Amino acid sequence: MWNSPKVGILGGGQLGRMLVESANRLNIQANVLDVDNSPAKQISSHDGHVTGSFKEPDAVRKLAETCDVITAEIEHVDTYALEEVASKVRVEPSWQAIRTIQNKFNQKEHLRKYGIPMADHRELVNNTPEELAQIGEQLGYPMMLKSKTMAYDGRGNFRVNSKEDIPAALEALKDRPLYSEKWAYFKMELAVMVIKTKDDVLSYPTVETVQEDSICKLVYAPARNVSDAINQQAQALARKAVAAFEGKGAFGVEMFLLEDNSLMLCELASRIHNSGHWTIEGCALSQFDSHIRAILDLPIPPKSLELLQPSIMLNIIGGATPDSHLQATQAALSIPNASIHLYSKGAAKPGRKMGHVTVTGATMHEAETLIQPLVDVVDTMRA
Ligand code: ATP
Ligand code: MG
Ligand code: MG
Repeated sequence: MWNSPKVGILGGGQLGRMLVESANRLNIQANVLDVDNSPAKQISSHDGHVTGSFKEPDAVRKLAETCDVITAEIEHVDTYALEEVASKVRVEPSWQAIRTIQNKFNQKEHLRKYGIPMADHRELVNNTPEELAQIGEQLGYPMMLKSKTMAYDGRGNFRVNSKEDIPAALEALKDRPLYSEKWAYFKMELAVMVIKTKDDVLSYPTVETVQEDSICKLVYAPARNVSDAINQQAQALARKAVAAFEGKGAFGVEMFLLEDNSLMLCELASRIHNSGHWTIEGCALSQFDSHIRAILDLPIPPKSLELLQPSIMLNIIGGATPDSHLQATQAALSIPNASIHLYSKGAAKPGRKMGHVTVTGATMHEAETLIQPLVDVVDTMRA
């Protein structure tokens, strides 16, 4: 069929695991760089995996020797090592894209040049209370203090409600490079998965995401009660933002829909994304299938990215007790049309993503009705 390409993946968490599921179905060997027995390695038995971290240059070099193309399930990787190996092996998306995107402030500076709307923000240089107080006067309260780097699931965000919160905010994000963002009074959060191929920028339907404590909880595909015009604007914004970066593969674009119906970028990820998990059941090609195809220049019929059926994804997150996620899974077993994905990450901690469930329906109303009992169970188990 094709010359049995080997794919190297930086990171073997749940996103890597679902990429491996897609690669396996095409007989494509995926070599994973992560600790032994990481979720992605557990479902892939061969001797091409590399033990180590995507932050260690030596481990990245070693992985590069085993494959034709390297990709990443996470943006917090050593891009200097990627830059070095890019002369020997293809890196998708480009190390330049990953380097810019992994620093949320640099990402925004870059996207500003392309006219992408986003919340007004200011860089902190000294991380002093005086500096943040001055920024607070410019941006107003509340504002969101954010770590530029190593941010995920809201760990790196601190809501500063007033001047009085400044010491606590700086303490919470101590020793991290920071910037602060004007509060976005959104009525809804939207997201679009974009697939960049060698000659196209394709996208999946616009979805609605619901965050609780800054962690994605629910994703509704398609977004509910969003007009055609807003949907088209979200699609255009997402594609334009992703087109500003070099390289192939999946990119997740998060947006705010404001009270006046205008859209603003929240942030962008250079990888497969939680807001796209619903595509496994909701589309003919999942985001993971499309990512593998995009980085290997295999065909992606755009029709295969269209919605087959309304879908709702619910994250199973570590809760109040060590087995909260298993109780939620137990409840999901009895929900009609529910597809359960557990990540086999070992011990649960409060706030840790342990799995997800996608429920489909002939209509969104049906999917909502079917999933509601499970949402109720999850709500009782919050940490
Ligand atoms: P992710 O897990 O998506 O990578 P993250 O840690 O990088 O998350 P953000 O996506 O920047 O963090 O923010 C997480 C959530 O916090 C957003 O989805 C939104 O709900 C809220 N948020 C972020 N920035 C703002 C803002 N400027 N105004 C209001 N709410 C915000
Ligand atoms: Mg992020
Ligand atoms: Mg985010």
